[in-house]
Amino acid sequence: MNFDFTKTSEACVKCGKCIPSCTIHQINADEVTSPRGFLELAGAYQRGELELDKNAKDIFEKCFLCTTCVSICPTSLPTDIAIENIRRDIAEKFGIAWFKRAYFFLLRHRKMMDFSLSLGAYFLPLLFKIDREAQSMRARFWLPYINKRVFPILNKKSFLNSHEQFIQNAPDKSLKAAVFAGCFSNYHYTKTAESLLEILKALKINVLLPKKQRCCGASAFFTGDFKTVDTLIRANVEYFETFLDAVDAIIIPEATCAAMIKEDWERFMSEDIEMAKRIKKITAKVFMASEWLYKKTNLLEYLKSLNITQKERITYHDPCHARKVLKIFKEPRALLAENYELSEMSDPAQCCGFGGVTMQSEKFELAKMAVKPKIEMIKETGAKILSAECGACRMQLTNAIDKSGAEVKFKHPLELIAEIIRAKQT
Ligand code: SF4
Ligand code: SF4
Repeated sequence: MNFDFTKTSEACVKCGKCIPSCTIHQINADEVTSPRGFLELAGAYQRGELELDKNAKDIFEKCFLCTTCVSICPTSLPTDIAIENIRRDIAEKFGIAWFKRAYFFLLRHRKMMDFSLSLGAYFLPLLFKIDREAQSMRARFWLPYINKRVFPILNKKSFLNSHEQFIQNAPDKSLKAAVFAGCFSNYHYTKTAESLLEILKALKINVLLPKKQRCCGASAFFTGDFKTVDTLIRANVEYFETFLDAVDAIIIPEATCAAMIKEDWERFMSEDIEMAKRIKKITAKVFMASEWLYKKTNLLEYLKSLNITQKERITYHDPCHARKVLKIFKEPRALLAENYELSEMSDPAQCCGFGGVTMQSEKFELAKMAVKPKIEMIKETGAKILSAECGACRMQLTNAIDKSGAEVKFKHPLELIAEIIRAKQT
């Protein structure tokens, strides 16, 4: 994927509309770390006036890739895409830290990933206290990088390895929905994907769980490891084509994976015209789970018919990849509002500050600062349950809630809907 930094940089009219809402600028009020500043530097880089030295690397790694600037900019200038491409050049020049390379290696080799995480699940209790109910764990004693943080748990068996490939819920065997679980739902927050199965069962929709699906490539993409992204997209496209005609939709309970597949895959492969065409055919059938359930099934009527109202107040956080990239925000709310009292934050679309692998490791101090206003907003709602259709937001927000001492639990919208269905069945 080649990107014209100069064209984008010159198209910026320097109006500054994007600056007040920029996630990094809010915590580091410097023109350099603002969308306008990033674009100026990107243009200078392409003109050969800026060397990608360690200082430049540090600056470009400070963007959260939240796309807030793109959604505000009058001409939707793709600051995020410019930064992703510069990170590729940075990765080529400086290399990628060993722990990220190890993680991306596992993402490229699913069987080894399955084995490693399963092994980890056996031994991690020695180092971590595990809370299966909250699907989180914290270190038992001081450890570098991870001290005092709450992490998603590992499961001995991944979600995909816990089920048959075909789950028949309808009397006939017609296939309906294939599930792309995403790494968070497959390995960590498996209750999300299990809840999706419960909902599809209640709606009598047959399910295909394609076992050879790979990571969508988002975490490698945001880190500049384009070789890994290329490998993962090609492998997934080959595999998706083997079942595409047999299903109505490929549904994804994770905003980041859905946005990566729907928006980034085709653009990433734009120079391989044949591959881009194949991706277009696939993405026409790809949906975020809440969107598909709301628009293409009778889930809303079904939930109405259950006539259950839960007393606990909930609040919904909009993942950036759902609201700003895919424009999905009404659908999960409509489904949840049927059975729960929904209390809105003052700005539910403000980025949670997850930011990706680099932000969660080498730049975690920034992620901690970025989430603070969000936690205050959550507390102000008085809600006891926070929901968001994204495992990355969940990881960032559960850690921040834990640190704040707020008595708020996190539940994915699909978990909340499945609880309603379960309540009726019992
Ligand atoms: S993507 Fe987010 S953090 Fe990065 S420049 Fe845009 S608004 Fe700022
Ligand atoms: S809103 Fe768009 S045009 Fe205005 S400063 Fe930001 S990136 Fe440039």
